[in-house]
Amino acid sequence: EKPALSLLGLGAMGGALARAWLAAGHPVTVWNRTAARAEALADQGARVAATPAEAVAASDLVIVCLLDHASAGEVLDGADPSGKDLVDLTTGTPEEARARARWAGERGARFLDGGVMAVPPMIGTAGSGAYVFYSGSRALFEDHAGTLAVPAGTVYAGEDPGLAALLDVALLSAMTGMFAGVAHAFALTRDDVAPKEFADLVVGWLRAMASYAYGVADHLDTGDYTRNVTSGLAMMVRGNATLLRTAEEQRVSPELLTPFMTLMERRLAGGHDGEGTTGVIDLLRVP
Ligand code: NDP
Repeated sequence: EKPALSLLGLGAMGGALARAWLAAGHPVTVWNRTAARAEALADQGARVAATPAEAVAASDLVIVCLLDHASAGEVLDGADPSGKDLVDLTTGTPEEARARARWAGERGARFLDGGVMAVPPMIGTAGSGAYVFYSGSRALFEDHAGTLAVPAGTVYAGEDPGLAALLDVALLSAMTGMFAGVAHAFALTRDDVAPKEFADLVVGWLRAMASYAYGVADHLDTGDYTRNVTSGLAMMVRGNATLLRTAEEQRVSPELLTPFMTLMERRLAGGHDGEGTTGVIDLLRVP
């Protein structure tokens, strides 16, 4: 018999997780605020708990996947997690994860925070590339390694419970910048180039440019922001003016681009014309 688990939260992500564990033969107890979502899983073998406290009591391994830190707090409020292994897959901040870890620790539970790097259709799908960052109790992670690996790959980030959230949010932040750039690019081209044709070009270009991050890492590691710079800041700032004039010609607002361009100009004005854009990172640090 596979290890049992309880899952609180059956939204798009929680529901996908539940189906993956059920399909793999794990006994799963579920709870959801809107009961209909739990009932729907009963057909697939899930046991439905009437309250969060009942769900927490039902299994040694308790997993929550709720909207945000506040809703997870509300749900866990009336439950007794002592002696349990609690895993929080709700997206939150590093400090929120650390606070949840303290909450669990004070109540005699082991704790692991998780950051899901996937959309629901990737969950339980072999070869989808889905994985979850985990941080907190290494012992919990190791004791439940097989169960945790069912819905997605697993990456243990470290004992600091905030690390998974930090990595999760950092990757989402990089994605947000990418979404912004792609939105601007489609706004420029939509009247002149077939969207699908342009998408092929965008995907190829972003893939080719992605290793930019390795150059940044080398600059941060060595402290020399001019190493292997092929596109200097002075040239790029000049190029920005062309990007902005093109936006104007195409009647597209430059508002997604200008914040980054302003930082590039400030760095250049500080006398760093031999650098690329790594110096922008220094300007972002809030004192
Ligand atoms: P949904 O909006 O689909 O589901 C939200 C869940 O939280 C539902 O079960 C909902 O219950 C419950 N909920 C919300 N507020 C409360 C509350 N006050 N009390 C009790 N339950 C509450 O979100 P997802 O399932 O997509 O997301 C869940 C978590 O997974 C989020 O933290 C999200 O960031 C993360 N995640 C989601 C991804 C995605 O692509 N969907 C990707 C990676 C992470 P009810 O059914 O009653 O409304």
